[in-house]
Amino acid sequence: MGGQLIDGKALAEELREAFKPRTAALAAKGHRPGLAVILAGEDPASQVYVRNKVNACEAAGIFSLEARYSADVPQETLLAKIAALNADPAIHGILVQLPLPRHMDEKTVLEAISPEKDVDGFHAASLGALVQGHPCFIPCTPHGVMKMLEAHGIDPSGKEAVIIGRSSIVGKPMAALLLNANATVTVCHSKTLDLPAHARRADILVAALGKPRFVTASMVKPGAVVIDVGINRLPPEEGGKLCGDVDFESVREVASLITPVPGGVGPMTITMLLANTIEAAERRAGK
Ligand code: NAP
Repeated sequence: MGGQLIDGKALAEELREAFKPRTAALAAKGHRPGLAVILAGEDPASQVYVRNKVNACEAAGIFSLEARYSADVPQETLLAKIAALNADPAIHGILVQLPLPRHMDEKTVLEAISPEKDVDGFHAASLGALVQGHPCFIPCTPHGVMKMLEAHGIDPSGKEAVIIGRSSIVGKPMAALLLNANATVTVCHSKTLDLPAHARRADILVAALGKPRFVTASMVKPGAVVIDVGINRLPPEEGGKLCGDVDFESVREVASLITPVPGGVGPMTITMLLANTIEAAERRAGK
């Protein structure tokens, strides 16, 4: 039998349908939402992510602009582009695709984005507001996870939530969101001692570490909700497919609800980027 699937693809489609009247209403008033995507370098995965984001914008009625640069582009060029986009009234959201080329300082580049256009939610001002529980653009991946929990009637209040991974784009904002929703939150990382013991206490377990099939059934409490954020490409000798940080087949037997990879968190991430861009345009239009 096994746990029920959380179908991120279906939920993402449902949410994207609901965006259409909002973008149409904005466009009718001359405020068509606009997203600028900046890509530096030729990383193949980043190129796919950017293409997917641009295509999703088109489908949702959001204007998108791509700014592509070679890997050796000077940081100053990127900063000048961001300054121009900050001042451009047709652009409501600015996204810098990560990772940046090594010679750049990620923090400097991300913090050049005006917080009102920080639809990825990576600016220190956005993360600070999130921790303090103030309105802000919420980083898309953890925001998508919260929407999935909500769609399945999972209220984190009073529950034990364990997050594996503490990056600024997933683990830390995920912890803040679950804490703001009154869960009791534990964040595990590479220096955590006896990680399986922490994981086994979780009513809600979020795996975001980037290690294929790391979470096995013996690390999961029976009936837990398991959210797999990981996206890993298996080596060709193992089929070359995408897989998550959770050993899906075995964990499904123990969990009550589980996200698949692909088709789980991934489609929700882009959906929340669209949501943030539309919200930025609505704020500008004075709604
Ligand atoms: P990241 O920046 O590399 O951070 C990984 C985190 O996991 C770090 O905090 C690290 O601990 C921890 N970690 C690594 N190995 C560990 C281990 N063996 N035991 C315990 N903790 C360990 O990764 P990220 O950007 O957060 O991404 C995580 C995964 O999510 C990746 O597979 C990525 O592709 C995926 N992702 C998916 C989406 C989506 O839309 N579905 C979006 C973003 C990311 P330390 O801090 O101690 O080093």
